[in-house]
Amino acid sequence: MPIYEFRCGGCGGRFEKLCPIGENGENLKCPACGVASPRRVMSSFSGGGNSGDSGCSTCGSSNCSSCRI
Ligand SMILES: [Zn+2]
Repeated sequence: MPIYEFRCGGCGGRFEKLCPIGENGENLKCPACGVASPRRVMSSFSGGGNSGDSGCSTCGSSNCSSCRI
């Protein structure tokens, strides 16, 4: 089973959990605050290896493609 990363809509915390393929978090609860239905985060998106290319120091956006120098 893959490990999925979830982000809590209550406290904003992130946690990882071993889930069956296709798990979307509907049946899960945040281990920190207990709020249900955390949102699944694509683990490939947060795997790093892309540091320095994300975040814009010019406009402050976290995903800026318009003013990248
Ligand atoms: Zn939470």
